[in-house]
Amino acid sequence: MLQNYITYLKFIDEKLKKFFERQKPYIRCQKGCAMCCQNAQFPYSKIEMDYLMIGAWQLDIEKKKIVAQNVNKIRQQMKDFKGDDFKYDCPFLINNVCSVYDYRGLICRSFGLMTQGSDGRVKVPFCCFKGYNYANVMEDGGNKVSAEKFKQLGVKEEPVAFNVSYNFLTDDDFARGFKFSFGEKKPLIEWFIEEDSEKDEQIKNNFPLS
Ligand code: SF4
Ligand code: SF4
Repeated sequence: MLQNYITYLKFIDEKLKKFFERQKPYIRCQKGCAMCCQNAQFPYSKIEMDYLMIGAWQLDIEKKKIVAQNVNKIRQQMKDFKGDDFKYDCPFLINNVCSVYDYRGLICRSFGLMTQGSDGRVKVPFCCFKGYNYANVMEDGGNKVSAEKFKQLGVKEEPVAFNVSYNFLTDDDFARGFKFSFGEKKPLIEWFIEEDSEKDEQIKNNFPLS
């Protein structure tokens, strides 16, 4: 089943590569920019988590220790948190670089593009408002493409919103088509801390909780 998921990932990666290429004049992503790996929830399905763990198990001992420390820190933050919208920095982010890049999940692969959900709502990535992706073509402080800025840029391809929301990319229709199942979906950190998690002794052994 994991092999079928990997085939699906290749299919999606090819599409995303083309989308990012088309939107290149508006994209500011680069190694070391890790804002989108911080202060979020990072939804991960079971199969994405299985794949991520292949990368995690290959980390050297020092990096595994750092990830384990990060997980423990987040677990403590979670215990102290009062509210229902807990956000955290991804435990796999080390020195502002993803330590499991090739094995990262769908949300990590697609983030950065302008998206359009099934309800038709267009969303720009939050970093636009910090001067990054699409900031050069949006109205100041707004959520709307500026025709004037677009003209000034002299770019051929206009800013386009793609249907690459996490819900869409993890739709069961894709899974059926590629003959795998996404399984349960939940924030990445919850795969590490739920006592009854089927996933699993291996995670706990590799990233022991304090
Ligand atoms: S999506 Fe935004 S925050 Fe994430 S790497 Fe790209 S520019 Fe940085
Ligand atoms: S898995 Fe990697 S890309 Fe995804 S949020 Fe964590 S550090 Fe960022």
